[in-house]
Amino acid sequence: MSPRFVVCGSLVVIVVAALALGTQADARTRAMPSAEPPLSATDSQEIALGAALAKQFDSTRGIQPTPESERIQAYLQGIADSLGHYTKRRLPWTIHFDPHPGIKSGFALPGGHIVIWGGILSYMATEDEAAAVIAHEIEHIDNGQVSRRIDSLVTSRHRDVTDASQWRWGEFGASYGPVLEYRCDSLGAEIAVKAGYSPYAYKTMMESFIALGKVHAPNAPPAKELTDRIDQIQRQIAEEHWESLTQTKRLRLPGAGG
Ligand SMILES: [Zn+2]
Repeated sequence: MSPRFVVCGSLVVIVVAALALGTQADARTRAMPSAEPPLSATDSQEIALGAALAKQFDSTRGIQPTPESERIQAYLQGIADSLGHYTKRRLPWTIHFDPHPGIKSGFALPGGHIVIWGGILSYMATEDEAAAVIAHEIEHIDNGQVSRRIDSLVTSRHRDVTDASQWRWGEFGASYGPVLEYRCDSLGAEIAVKAGYSPYAYKTMMESFIALGKVHAPNAPPAKELTDRIDQIQRQIAEEHWESLTQTKRLRLPGAGG
């Protein structure tokens, strides 16, 4: 059982694993003369690139929407819309649902596009947990991490942000590393709470992965990333005085009998 909950598709893609993200972009920004235009894509360029990569995603994975998958996607979109009121960037937060049951995560594309895989839904018992996962992915974009990955590819591989044919959706699927993954939990919890969701959803999602992992591998210790993330959300709940925010909403996945 993979513990890679919301580790952003690291199951799928390793293409950008070697990129020196963040530090490379920061160093370049500092060295760049102010007269030169910024290397980051504008919001509208990012949105267009993300939309093209979402289409590429659907095409390469053979996604054929069904009435059922569209209803689930619309439900998840409603959650994203409620979270989107509290983001710093004004982007069209857009959910793309891939019902594959074997992939238990999601990832963020440029410009507000977010892929949620079907496998992770089976770990959820509350709408708050869906919000936790979606908010985590939103933060990869809202926190500028996806933009820095774009910068990095522009610099290292001379990509043109206006030519989507040069880009691959999978380049945005790799993990951002523990520090930024944990940061997205923390920032995601902030917008989830503002949208009326329980921050404990981060904890229960992680605990679900640990519990099922223990069934499949009783003698293996839980992944440190999962226990670290549980520790982090517990500290954040205490620091923010969120202890009373335990009430959760029922997960209302269309077609699930409820
Ligand atoms: Zn992530």
